[in-house]
Amino acid sequence: MGRPNVGKSTLFNRLLGTRKAVVSPVQGTTRDRLTGTIEWRGQRFTLMDMGGYALGRTAGLDSLVQRQVSEAIREADGFVFVCDAQVGPTPSDALIVERLRKAGKPILLAANKADSRPLVPPDFFSLGLEPACAVSALHGRGMNELLDRLLEQVKPSDAPAAPASDDTASSTRPVAVAIVGRQNVGKSSLFNALLREERTIVSPSAGTTRDAVDTRLTVRGHPLLLIDTAGLRHRRKVRDAVDHFAMSRAIEAIRRCDVALLVLDATQGVTRDDQRLMTQVLEAGCGCVLVMNKWDLAGSTMKERALAEAVHRQAPAAFFAPVIAVSAKTGLRVSRALELGLTVARSSRRGLSEERCEQLLRQAWVTQQPPRHRGRVIRLLHVRCMIGRPLRIELDTRPVGWLAPSYRHYLLKALYRDPGLAGVPIHLIVTGPTSTR
Ligand code: GDP
Ligand code: GDP
Repeated sequence: MGRPNVGKSTLFNRLLGTRKAVVSPVQGTTRDRLTGTIEWRGQRFTLMDMGGYALGRTAGLDSLVQRQVSEAIREADGFVFVCDAQVGPTPSDALIVERLRKAGKPILLAANKADSRPLVPPDFFSLGLEPACAVSALHGRGMNELLDRLLEQVKPSDAPAAPASDDTASSTRPVAVAIVGRQNVGKSSLFNALLREERTIVSPSAGTTRDAVDTRLTVRGHPLLLIDTAGLRHRRKVRDAVDHFAMSRAIEAIRRCDVALLVLDATQGVTRDDQRLMTQVLEAGCGCVLVMNKWDLAGSTMKERALAEAVHRQAPAAFFAPVIAVSAKTGLRVSRALELGLTVARSSRRGLSEERCEQLLRQAWVTQQPPRHRGRVIRLLHVRCMIGRPLRIELDTRPVGWLAPSYRHYLLKALYRDPGLAGVPIHLIVTGPTSTR
C-alpha cells in the first residue's frame, strides 16, 4: 500500500522477479489486480500488487476502486506500506497509515528510493511505524531485509493456532478450494455444475464475475473460496504460451488453496500431465481429492473402493487422496466432491492429536518391526506431530535415525487408517543419531 508513484509496482515486480514467482492476473472491473506467490526462508507469501490503486484522497471518488482496496485490506494478513524516502513523509502518507491501522494488522514501513543511503530518514518515524526498512526497489537493495522483517511481522494465515481450533479463529478465513487439472478434463464444466448445484451461493462482490479466478460462496454456512483455473481460457491465442500459462496458473492456485480438487478424465485414466500436477500438489502440501470426471461416459459399474484402488495403482504418490467419481454433465456427485474437499481442508487445518498419532504408529510398530539396521533393532523413542503445511510427523528413533523407505511407507499407510487424515499430505521425518560410516 502507499500513495501513487512511491514505487509499489516496482517493488512488487522486484520481489517477484528475482524470485521466479508466478504472477496471476485477477480480473477486477476497473483494473487487473495482480497477485504473486514467493517463497522466502521456507515460508510462502502471496503479495498483492496495489500499484494501480490510488489510495488517498482521490480514491473516494471511485467506489469500485474503494471496494477493491477495502477487499485487499480485509484479505491481507499484513501490509508493506511504501513511502518515498527522497520526498519524505507527506500528509497523504499519514492518512493512509491511519486507514491501515484500523485493520489491526502488522504494517511494515518500506522507505523506497533510498538508492544511495540505506537508511530510513528520521522524519518517517513521525508516522509511528515500527519496524521500518530502507529499500531501493529500482536497484533491488534491501529486499532480503524487507522479506525477513515481513516474516517476523506477519503470521501466515494458514497456520492454525492450536490442534483443536477447528471452528475458531482459523476457520473464519474461507476455505480455499482450487479446481485444477489438465485441459479438457472438465474443470469449467465442474465449476459451472457446482454453481448450479449449490443454491446457497453469494458472489456478487467485485471481481467475481464468471471471468474471475476466485468465487466466494457459502456452502452450508461455511464460507468458501473457489479458485477456478479454467476461467480465462478464451484469452488463449498462442497454444504453447498458453499451456505454460495454464500450468503456471494451476501451480499458483495449488499454492494458495487449502485443498485441490484434481480433476481427471475417467475415460482416459491417469496421464503424464495428471502426474505432473499431482507432484505439484504434493510439493505444495495442500489437501487433495482426486475427482474422476465424465463418469457418465466411463460406462463403468465399478464400486468406489475398486475405483480408488485402480487410481492409486496408477498414481502411487497420491495414495492418500480420496477418489470420487462424478459427472459434471449430469451433476452426479458434484456436490459431494465439494463436501469431500471441505472435509479434507478442515482435516488439514486440524491435523492429528499427538496421542492419536503416537498410538497409530506404535500399533503399526508392534504389528511389524522395522527392518534392522546393520543387525541392530530400531526402537521408536518419541513422536512429534507438527501442524502446518504439509503436516509434519517427526519420529525419533534409536540407535540410529533411519528407517527403510518401504517401512516409512508402511507407517504412512497406518497413519492414513485414521479417517481424519484422508487427503492430507504428511511429511514423515525420522530423526536420531546418524549412523557411523
Ligand atoms: P506506484 O505508483 O507506487 O506503483 O509506483 P511505480 O512502481 O510505478 O514507480 C513510480 C516511479 O518511481 C517509477 O518511475 C519508478 O521507476 C520509480 N521508482 C520506483 N522505485 C524506485 C527506487 O527505488 N529508486 C528510484 N530512484 N526510483 C524508483
Ligand atoms: P476444461 O478444459 O478442463 O475446463 O474442460 P471443459 O469443462 O471445457 O470440458 C471439456 C469437454 O468435456 C467439454 O466438451 C465438456 O462438455 C466435456 N465434459 C466435461 N465434463 C463432462 C462430463 O462429466 N461428462 C461428459 N460426457 N462430458 C463432459
